[in-house]
Amino acid sequence: MKELLYINKECYEEVIAHTKEGFPDEACGILAGNDSIVSKVYKMVNADQSPLTYFMDPKELFQVVKDIRNNNFEMLAIYHSHTASEAYPSATDIKSALYPDSLYVIVSLREFNSPKVRAFHIDEGNVTEKEIRILDKENQNGD
Ligand SMILES: [Zn+2]
Repeated sequence: MKELLYINKECYEEVIAHTKEGFPDEACGILAGNDSIVSKVYKMVNADQSPLTYFMDPKELFQVVKDIRNNNFEMLAIYHSHTASEAYPSATDIKSALYPDSLYVIVSLREFNSPKVRAFHIDEGNVTEKEIRILDKENQNGD
């Protein structure tokens, strides 16, 4: 498991825009790319249509996973929003985290105009924060 999650600026902004569009319900989706660099955002439907929980429609998830494979991407992270709580996994998030190979990105819209975005590795109840680095066009190739 990598220590960092890199995300292209456009993708980062897309995620925030998507979670704001979904408000007051939670929004969810998948971040894909290669070498820990997110280059594709799959905005998904929250089948729960709830401000407190999210659930990915299995059929939509299947299509997304297929598209990820067809593009030789990796599923790097699963994102969802918290509309009234901090950007930290809830007890439910921890319990239902089934993909230890993906990170869990949480966007908190508690302060709607200054969203907080954090990433976590969740494995069998253990939560470890991972740093997110946003890549601008200028530094996309270097580090
Ligand atoms: Zn949550």
